[in-house]
Order: sequence, then structure tokens, then C-alpha cells
Amino acid sequence: MQADYVIVGAGSAGCVLANRLTEDPSTRVILLEAGGKDWNPYIHVPAGFMKLLDHPTITWGFKADKESGLNGREIPYPRGRVLGGSSSINGMIYIRSQPEDYDHWAQLGNRGWNGKDVFPFFRKAEHWEGPADEVHGKDGPLYTAPGRDKPELCQVAIDAGVQMGWEYREDLNDLPHGLGDHIGWVQQTRGGRFRASTARSYLRPAMSRPNLQVVTGALVHRVVLDGKRAVGVEFSRGNKIESADAAGEVILSAGAIGSPHMLQLSGVGDPDHLGQIGVEVVHALPGVGKNFQDHFIIRVQADVAGIGTLNERSRGLRFAGELMKFAFQGGGMLTYGASLVAASFKALPESATPDVQGLFSSGSFSPGPKRQMDKTPAMTTGLWQMRPESCGHVMAQSADPRMQPSINPNYLAEERDRRTVIASIRMARDWFAQPAFQPYVTGEKLPGQDVQSDDEILEFAREVGSTVFHASCSCRMGPDPMSVVDDRLRVHGMERLRVIDASIMPTVTSTNTNAPTIMIAEKGAAMVKEDERMAAAA
Ligand SMILES: Cc1cc2nc3c(=O)[nH]c(=O)nc-3n(C[C@H](O)[C@H](O)[C@H](O)COP(=O)(O)OP(=O)(O)OC[C@H]3O[C@@H](n4cnc5c(N)ncnc54)[C@H](O)[C@@H]3O)c2cc1C
Repeated sequence: MQADYVIVGAGSAGCVLANRLTEDPSTRVILLEAGGKDWNPYIHVPAGFMKLLDHPTITWGFKADKESGLNGREIPYPRGRVLGGSSSINGMIYIRSQPEDYDHWAQLGNRGWNGKDVFPFFRKAEHWEGPADEVHGKDGPLYTAPGRDKPELCQVAIDAGVQMGWEYREDLNDLPHGLGDHIGWVQQTRGGRFRASTARSYLRPAMSRPNLQVVTGALVHRVVLDGKRAVGVEFSRGNKIESADAAGEVILSAGAIGSPHMLQLSGVGDPDHLGQIGVEVVHALPGVGKNFQDHFIIRVQADVAGIGTLNERSRGLRFAGELMKFAFQGGGMLTYGASLVAASFKALPESATPDVQGLFSSGSFSPGPKRQMDKTPAMTTGLWQMRPESCGHVMAQSADPRMQPSINPNYLAEERDRRTVIASIRMARDWFAQPAFQPYVTGEKLPGQDVQSDDEILEFAREVGSTVFHASCSCRMGPDPMSVVDDRLRVHGMERLRVIDASIMPTVTSTNTNAPTIMIAEKGAAMVKEDERMAAAA
């Protein structure tokens, strides 16, 4: 099979690219995805993501390395393996992050990536369900929406945040530069009552185009290279090895685990590492798979009484009522996703902008991979340090494309990260102690009153903390020797090969990573088209 562009991975970024590049009927695109079609109903019902985190076929079943700062625990590391990729299994929070994040990317030497530069691509992507305004786009493919319900306990959390001195923001995607601590209602990637994955919003409308070929169940093994020029990819479907030739470019959108892994298996990476796994070096690029970043979450929970929580709504007759609400009104807890309220605040006094994100939920579940709601009423805030300094790696462990790479987020390796985690738990306790919560809070559930000193809090974090699922930066964009792509997302030193997905982030964005990844893909698609036009005109 042959096309102008071969895209690897139909995730958040890959589906955007497939749509945008096939807008011109004369451009032929092949989109290869290791997973299958997005038929599972849990994908489409927002709260269904809790049932998918360890799904045997819809996720890759990855585990992070044991030695990742968590007392030797080997935590599950879910990534989507299905049309839509991780956007088909994520918590659906739609948030663009602090504008300063992008200014920092530009300061690192990435031209065209500051807050003002990237803003139009967020808007271009968006099909906002709320009223038209300057911030949100109405004409894009990606359905976004304000939450449908405002549960009483979530409103109490906002009131308590205001008592902390945090500013209430009507729109968490309208953040002026230099904004301080704030709190507000979360927006979602949701169209009507259903999840807006990029498979639904970008890929489905493009599927009928004759110039787009989507191949599922296709595990890409490596990029086929002619010297340092990408000419296609080799993949397996069932037991058959096949190839897809690219007359134009190969674009890797396999995510922050898959893209560096594939570069390494193709001979592009750190020569020492490639030698260890028996892959011949085609191009020495030592940063491939390094600089890997993720957010690290710890949860603080309190028991409550006298106010409704998700815990009782998720069982028995109350749950039957929720099913009816979803079916007949398109509302209720099944439309919720990961959280309805988010707070951004400074835990460390030296931080210039908020450094911790706290998602609030009017419910609770025990630590561990299974998300089973607790039986007694409780509430939770999930906290993460926005800009961790700890960096880890994604490194192939063998030349076999079926073997998962070593995934090491290296959580809590840096002293500042440990200080932030400790300070964030103390801040969350203050939040829960505000007058607005007092009529309802009956006691701390986690970490528990016996966890008080810095050492005890840090130990608690190491024992129960986990991934926020924001894998990024493993093919970092930049002009320096440890970066992997330039600011037009072309792999340094290679021809006709780009990486366009969350792996190119120079540093992880402060908040959730799906909207930023879709922005990266929108901007990446525009650059691919522009470069094609320039080449044709030359
Ligand atoms: C459980 C979970 C919850 C999350 N919650 C949120 C949230 O609420 N809000 C938010 O903003 N972000 C959230 N995120 C993060 C966000 O979804 C990701 O940052 C984003 O989806 C990354 O997009 P991507 O295109 O880089 O990778 P992905 O979307 O993961 O896409 C990569 C695709 O490539 C495919 N692939 C990989 N290797 C190969 C190969 N060798 N051959 C063929 N195909 C391959 C994969 O199967 C996948 O479909 C969450 C993520 C997860 C996993």
C-alpha cells in the first residue's frame, strides 16, 4: 500500500492529522493503528472510562518500572490501544493549561510556540457547546462542553476554595498571564451525552473520504529508511508482515511511549542503548526516549455526612436512577468523567504561578488499579505538581516490537518535587478545613491523622501515589543536542520524518495533556501542509 503520508497511531494526535491532511482530496493518507475499532460502549459513556483502565485489548497493559521512586511498586501505566488512542479512555477533562507553559516552550528556542501563537489552534480545534465568545471556537470538530450538573458538594468545594483566597473563575480556559490561585468548574470533551474522542470528532467525519485508508490491528515495527530518509513503515497484521510506502512523509503519532520506542527500533537513538538491544545505528540522536515526564497524583480524602456523594449514587436503586437520567435526559453522574471542579494553587512560596493542580470529586475510591467507589460517603482531591523537575525515560528493552519498553517516570527524584508533594497535601488539608466544608466533613480518610511529619507524608505519597496519565516529552522539541524534533516537528538529522503527539512537548503542560496534544496536532498538520506547498512552489 502507498500514500503521500503514512501516519502511525490513531490516537489524540493521529486522528487530527488524518482529518486535516485529507481535507485536500488529492492528498492520500494511510493511518495505521495497533488497536481495533472503538465499539466498546464504555468508551462512549463518559464515566465508563473507570472500567477501561486495565482493559486487556483497549489498553496496552503497560506497567512502569519498579524503581520509579515509589518504594519498588510496579504501577499500571494505562495507554489507549484503539481508534482514538488515549482520548478514547481518558477522563475527558478539557483544559488548555497556563499560557506561561507555552511562553516557556518558546523561550527554550521553539519559534512559533508561545501562548499567543498556539491559541488559534486551540480555537480551531473546538466545537464549544456553550455560548460563543473570544476564548472558545464554535466551528472545529472537537466537541467541548461545560459540565451538565453542579452537585451541591462540588459547589461547597468551590466556596471553600474561595475561603482559601482562591479566585473563582467562570472559565478555566480563560486564564490571563500571571493569574494567581483559582478554582472553577471543569469543561469536558463531550458532545451531547457522549465522549468526544478524536476518533469520534475528527476521524469519523473523514472516514468516507476516498483518499484516507485506516488500517486497524496494525502493529508498526519500524520506520523503513533509505539512508536517513523515511520512505515507509513495516507493520504486522495478524501473522503477516506488510509495508506502507510514503511518497511524502512518515508521521509518528504513537504517543509518548510508542513514538520514541519506534524511533529506537528503527535505529534512531542513543548509540549505546541501540547497541545493547542489538539494533544497528542509523542516526545517533541521544535524546530519543529521554526527558520523559508525567504528573504524579496523590489523593486526599475526607468522610462526609449530610450531603450527597457519588458513592451512594453508584449503587443499587440510586444507580438505576442514574442510568435513567443518562438515557432519558443525557445527564447525571454517567456524564461526569474524571472530575467536575479544578483548583490551581501555589504550594511553594517561590512559585510565580500556581504549581499544584487539585481536582475535586464528590466521591472516593481506594488506592489501587481498580476504581470501585467506596461504600460510605466521602470526597477526594487528587493533587499533582504542575511542573515536575524529575525526568525519566522510555527505552526499548529488546529489538522485538511486541515487548513493552522500559517506562520510568522517575517520580519524586528531585528535591523540589518532593517538597511540592508535601506542601500540596498540607494545602489540601487546609482547603478541607474551611468553614464551607465544616457542616459536612466528619474526619480525614486519607492520608489519615497519623500522617503528619514531612517524612510521613512523603512515605504516604510513595506508597499510594500513581500516574495522572500525562506521559510526555520523550521526543522533546528543541534546538539543543538532547532534543529530538525541531520546532516544525521534523526529527533532527532525518528527512521526511516527523513526530507529532504528546511526546514532543518540551516540558509537560501544567494541567491535563489532551487539549494540548490536539493543539500540537492541529499546528503540526498546518506545518505539514505549509511545507508541502513551499516544496511544490520551489
Ligand atoms: C486513563 C487516562 C486518563 C486521562 N485523562 C485525561 C483527561 O481527563 N484530560 C486530558 O486532557 N488528558 C487526559 N489524559 C491524557 C491524554 O489523553 C493524552 O495526553 C493524549 O491522549 C495523548 O495523545 P497522543 O496522541 O500523544 O497519544 P495516544 O492518544 O495514546 O495515541 C497513540 C496511538 O498510537 C497507537 N500506537 C502506539 N504504538 C503503535 C504501534 N507500534 N503501531 C501502531 N499503533 C501504535 C496507540 O494504540 C494509540 O492509539 C488521560 C490519559 C489516560 C491514559
